[in-house]
Amino acid sequence: MEVENISKEQKRGMLENVMRQFDNAADVIDLNPNIRKILSITNNEIVVHFPVKMDNNEVEVFTGYRVQHNNSLGPYKGGLRYHPTVDLDAAKALAMWMTWKTSLAGLPYGGAKGGIQIDSSKYSMAELERITRRFTYALGDNIGPEFDIPAPDVNTNPQTMAWILDTFMSTKAPAERSANLHVVTGKPIGTGGSEGRDRATGYGVFLSIKFWAENKKVNLKGKKFIVQGFGNVGYWASHFMEKEGAILAGVQDADGSIANKTGISVEKLWEHTRENNGSIQGFPFASPIESDYFFQLSCDICIPSALGNQITAKNASKIKAVLIAEGANGPTDVEGEKVLLARGVDIIPDILCNSGGVIGSYFEWLQNRNGEIWQLEEVLMKLEKKLNESFNKVLQTSKTRKVDMRTAAFIIAIERLERTYVERGIFP
Ligand code: GLU
Repeated sequence: MEVENISKEQKRGMLENVMRQFDNAADVIDLNPNIRKILSITNNEIVVHFPVKMDNNEVEVFTGYRVQHNNSLGPYKGGLRYHPTVDLDAAKALAMWMTWKTSLAGLPYGGAKGGIQIDSSKYSMAELERITRRFTYALGDNIGPEFDIPAPDVNTNPQTMAWILDTFMSTKAPAERSANLHVVTGKPIGTGGSEGRDRATGYGVFLSIKFWAENKKVNLKGKKFIVQGFGNVGYWASHFMEKEGAILAGVQDADGSIANKTGISVEKLWEHTRENNGSIQGFPFASPIESDYFFQLSCDICIPSALGNQITAKNASKIKAVLIAEGANGPTDVEGEKVLLARGVDIIPDILCNSGGVIGSYFEWLQNRNGEIWQLEEVLMKLEKKLNESFNKVLQTSKTRKVDMRTAAFIIAIERLERTYVERGIFP
């Protein structure tokens, strides 16, 4: 996938998409025009430029973003992504999706997103550490455990969160430090992270598919699925799908695409990527295929878990899957979705399908705040319960309102926000 070629379209498309999705749902419920105005804008847009010393002693200046969309339901919440496509519009779009996601999940959070416009594969670990620490320092008190709580996203991970936490804490007075443990979620276990947060997003994607299958009376055993992106989300979703008896038939990542009709072993592929800079390239038990052909692979379920705007009007008509489970944020654009819905393809929308991640983050934040440590089984059980509630609500709303699942999910999210504005009014 040539990042440079797709980036411009993606960036323009994501903000336009999320706004069209919002307007679409707002029209259905005839949303109060004043509340529509408020929810259409992002509260704060923070752009920071900061210098970092590279391994060769040269200084490079980086640009970082944090967009805070809305915090009427609670502190801003959402990931930090390190990718060349990160810019203000991308961060705005992703921050808005976080507001709808946390609202739909019934969490006491608002929505935010940010990151740095870099190709992280070009930097050493030591450089990434210094970049992350300087970024955190530049953000200063624009983040905080009760104000705005970052988490991992594309190309950031528990290690990144540990650096952020350590930097943030180090800037506080000694007596205040441990009260800041919940400034980020998705931390390593030894640093206040929660059991199960690592698999929470992928497990949530799997659970959404399981709930869909139960509802449709489909047996997942022997069903073929394809996955775009084999990072944390793609891997864990595949892991749980395989455990259920489904067959991984194809995978695409930034370096290429592979397929095997008889199935790809999820664990073998994961091991391969661990030894190969995270890339699926060169995996010996599958054949490389043309990247353009990936979405045309014969399968039952397609799990896009990489970047935005991957399924468009151009490729939607060729997709064989009967279900799209959106592990990524914004993988299907509005035009692509129209084509899929007209063909009777089901779509479990991102703000529901990948909400396991932020629900897992909420559990981590609660544990840190209350000085508790929960076991893995407890975390996964609570996650399943929460996700099941959201799934049923979305299904119910889509039936009563006679709308697709995305519009239903947006309606639930928007109505919760609407209620809070109606009750509180507008200051002054
Ligand atoms: N980056 C993830 C998302 O897009 C997780 C956000 C979080 O846990 O705050 O949902």
